[in-house]
Amino acid sequence: MHAGEEAHDADTPIVTPLYQSVNYVTEVGQGDGLRYPRYGNTPNAELVQKRLAALDRAEACIVLSSGMGATACALLALLRPGDHLLASRSIYGGTQRLLTDEFAALGINVTLVDPHESRGLRTHLRKETRAVFLESPVNPTCRVLDLRPVSYLTQENGLALVVDSTFASPINFRPLEHGADVVIHSTTKFLNGHHDVLGGAVLGTAPYIEEVRQKMIIWGQAPDPFACWMLERGLKTLDVRVKRQNENAMRIALWCSERKEVKVVHYPGLPSHPDHEIAEFQMDGFGGMLGLELSGGGRAVERFIRKLRLIRHAPSLGGVDSLVSEPRYSSHTHLTAEERAKLGIPDGFLRLSVGIEDADDLIADLEQALHS
Ligand code: PLP
Repeated sequence: MHAGEEAHDADTPIVTPLYQSVNYVTEVGQGDGLRYPRYGNTPNAELVQKRLAALDRAEACIVLSSGMGATACALLALLRPGDHLLASRSIYGGTQRLLTDEFAALGINVTLVDPHESRGLRTHLRKETRAVFLESPVNPTCRVLDLRPVSYLTQENGLALVVDSTFASPINFRPLEHGADVVIHSTTKFLNGHHDVLGGAVLGTAPYIEEVRQKMIIWGQAPDPFACWMLERGLKTLDVRVKRQNENAMRIALWCSERKEVKVVHYPGLPSHPDHEIAEFQMDGFGGMLGLELSGGGRAVERFIRKLRLIRHAPSLGGVDSLVSEPRYSSHTHLTAEERAKLGIPDGFLRLSVGIEDADDLIADLEQALHS
C-alpha cells in the first residue's frame, strides 16, 4: 500500500492527488527531464510504477495503456528483425495474434510450442533465439507452468524469460522470484480490479525498463494520468481482494467438483488438477480464475449462462464482480474449434472470474442455473 511514498508531514493528503496536467513548466536552456504523459514520467505514473515494482520485487516498472501495449513494447525492446522468439502456444488469443501476425511482418520469427511437451522448448531453440515467452497461469485453462526447467534453459543459453502473470497477480505469483527476467501484466484485470481501467505493466531491470519506455514513447502506448491514479487506488485493496477471490474460487471449485452436471473443473487448487503440485510450490494462492466444462457441452453452457442472475456474462476478468465468459466467443474467437480443442478449450468450456461477493450467494446462483 505504501511503497514509493514520500515522507509525510501534517499536511500530506491520504489520497494521492491526481495530476491530470499534460504539460509541466520546464527549465530554460535544457532538454533533459521533460515531464509528459507519453514519456511515462508524470507524478501519478511514477508513483504507481514504484508500487508495482515493490509488489513484484522488481528493480523497475513501466505502466502502459493496455496489457497488449505492455506485451508489444516488452518484446519490441528485446527483439530485432531476424531474431527468433520461442513462445508457449497456450497464451491469450490477442497475444498469439501479435506474435504470429504482427511480429512476422516485422521480420521477427516466432515458434509456438506446446509448453507441456518435455524438451519442447529446447528442441526448437535456434542460434537466433533471443527470448522465451509464456503465460502462467494460462488463460483460460488455468494450467500452471513450472518455471524451473524453463529458467535453466534461458539462463544456460543467455535468453530472456518473459512471463505474463496477469492471471495470478503478484499476490499469488511473482515470476522474478522463480527465474523470470521480465514480468508482464494486463493491469486491466486483478491489479486495478474494478472493471474500469484499461492498462498494462512491464517489470524488470532498470536498464531494460528504460528500453521499454523508449518503445512506449515512440509507439504511443502510454497511459493517461487518470488511469494511473485509478490503478494506484485499486492497488490499495489488491491483497484483500485477491485473498477473497482465492477463497471464493476454492469454495466454488470444490462445490462444482461434486456436481454431476459439471464434467471437469479446471482449478489448480484442486488436488486432481494436473499442475496442483507445481502451483503449491510456485504460487502463494491458487487464484480467482477457474474453468468449467459442463456435461451437456456448448448448448448446455449457453442455457446455463442465460439463467445466471448474479454472475454476469462479460469478457475480461480479475475484478470485484464475478463474470463468466466463453473463450470460443471472446479470448480465443479467432481460432477454429479444432485449434481450441487442441489447446484444451473445447466448445462448452466456461471461464469463471470469481469476484469478492459472498461465496454462498455465488454458489446459490450457480446451483439455480444448473438446476432450472
Ligand atoms: N494477457 C492476458 C493473460 C490476458 O488475459 C489479456 C486480456 O484478456 C491480456 C494480456 C491483454 O490485456 P488488455 O486487454 O489489457 O490489453
